[in-house]
Amino acid sequence: MTTTPSTPAAQSIHIPPAIVVGDLAALLGVTPIDVIKELMKNGVMATINQVVDFDTAAVVATDLGFAPEEHSSIAAATSNAEGATDAPAADAGRATMRITEAGAQTRPPVVTVLGHVDHGKTTLLDAIRRTHVAAGEAGGITQHIGAYQATAPDGRLVTFIDTPGHAAFSQMRARGARITDVAIVVVAADDGVMQQTREAIDHVRAAGVPMVIALNKIDAPNANPDRAKQQLLEIGLVPEEFGGDQIVVPTSALRGEGIDTLLENVLLVADLQDLRANPDQNAVGVVIEAKSDRHRGIVATLLVQTGTLHQGDTILAGLTSGRAKAMTDATGTRLESAGPSTPVEVLGLSEVPPAGERFVVRPDEKTARAEADARRRALEAGVETTAAVTLETLFGEIHKGNVADFNLVLKADVQGSVEPLVRTLEDLSVSEVRVKVIHASVGSVTESDVQLAAAAKAVVIAFNTSAEQGARRLAEQERVEIREYKIIYEIVEDVEKAVSGLLEPIYEERHDATIEVRQVFRVGRRNAIAGAFVREGTVTRGARARVRRGGVVIAEGVVESLKRVADDAREVVAGLECGIQISNFSDFQEGDEIITHHMEQTR
Ligand code: GDP
Repeated sequence: MTTTPSTPAAQSIHIPPAIVVGDLAALLGVTPIDVIKELMKNGVMATINQVVDFDTAAVVATDLGFAPEEHSSIAAATSNAEGATDAPAADAGRATMRITEAGAQTRPPVVTVLGHVDHGKTTLLDAIRRTHVAAGEAGGITQHIGAYQATAPDGRLVTFIDTPGHAAFSQMRARGARITDVAIVVVAADDGVMQQTREAIDHVRAAGVPMVIALNKIDAPNANPDRAKQQLLEIGLVPEEFGGDQIVVPTSALRGEGIDTLLENVLLVADLQDLRANPDQNAVGVVIEAKSDRHRGIVATLLVQTGTLHQGDTILAGLTSGRAKAMTDATGTRLESAGPSTPVEVLGLSEVPPAGERFVVRPDEKTARAEADARRRALEAGVETTAAVTLETLFGEIHKGNVADFNLVLKADVQGSVEPLVRTLEDLSVSEVRVKVIHASVGSVTESDVQLAAAAKAVVIAFNTSAEQGARRLAEQERVEIREYKIIYEIVEDVEKAVSGLLEPIYEERHDATIEVRQVFRVGRRNAIAGAFVREGTVTRGARARVRRGGVVIAEGVVESLKRVADDAREVVAGLECGIQISNFSDFQEGDEIITHHMEQTR
């Protein structure tokens, strides 16, 4: 690069009185991980979806080279919620955090449905929509809006993301948006655990999202629920009836059976997470999907995660902004406001934001546009928002704390290669670094594999197989590395190398000799030779040396020349006299001490 991009160093930045960690990252043009790390350095443990107050955000922003200023207009607008901002976290488990969770209220869980093709995901979502969504103004759900809320038998709401499948799930996650609180994995009782079932489960596990299994099609003539449960057991999901904790709910999406129980169990799992959000603040959330409509302009489905979105609010979503002109829910009912976990269809954005993009509310359009511009500039300045991970860089990423494990997605040509490879690879784990194959299956590398790798910061290993065109494109876009191999040994060698690269060598200083300067011989005007006596140890030519005077180190260098009487010596042992020259130092005085040492790799 010939020009140095202007660093955002002196850039002043407006930060609201409370901001979600993910948004702060977007605002600063850094990754959420960077923000989380800065917070940790300052003793604040927060996740991407938590809210920090201005003071905390300002510390991070300053550390990252910005000049933070509080948004006075927002401060005024939310001053009646001030108590909430200053109060300690409501959640006792996170008492040390300065997060604005006082006033946080229980919110509905957000659910994504995943599973193998044809196992009934769409039918299940249809059934829920048909039987558990109250008809709205338009008499029910008339058009697809990407998410809707169903009512459980006890009257509580459950938010469903209406795009089934793990592609969408991990696509969101790759963008840093964690929207799913509970995953429903649909397994057809007549077909059992299949390739995409395993894939889905791996995606969900990688995301750390709890799941409920819907054992669907129990009405089918050849349904074999016991076999399916056995298969779940084999992949480490132990159904409750076998003494495990995996909830399995039998359903017939076709007949609308088991849905009440499914919703009840989803809420049960959600309750364990104690999902809360504060409705009394500006809305923050995620774009579920968006499109350009010829008649209505940009139509975006937004999921409010915390706060409340009001009609007329100015929304900033990545590089686009606009006023929420009209808001409706999935049933076409117009909404004045939408609280936490509520999906809404919003008109008024200026451009189509990408799915998974986070949105925030700004005091006015001018501010929103200015921030969007700042982000655009940060992007243009080359600030990386998604870190690519390769076998070569995993080392650095782990050390920077960006990834915890050495994650691999493995694809192989035949099942016979998969299991031994997984074992061999995972055996390469060392105490500091765990090699974890988060997904392994037979076949070519698919988009789903790439999405999983992107979300989990993993490298894809393809053994005797290759990547599908779409997967290759996506990998390029998401900057996921796909490495193809034909020889197992080479995989092992590469992973081993990467893992040992992870183990940064540790060097320790080893003391070699203590030498006493007894006489100084001037050589020309600049140089001097110390006539010295080796008191202890062995001095070697080329050794690192420190010169000490009165116990204080006054110079450091290497033993440049070493002589015994008139001859060059490679080493001189204790009890002998020698002549020593130290690189870059010639001001010896009688009585100086020379300590020599070398560095030894201890790991
Ligand atoms: P998806 O690919 O997972 O979304 O699966 P679909 O919802 O499209 O369903 C695939 C097929 O399975 C369709 O023909 C459905 O009618 C059928 N199906 C879905 N649920 C059930 C069920 O509970 N029982 C039976 N017998 N068939 C079902």
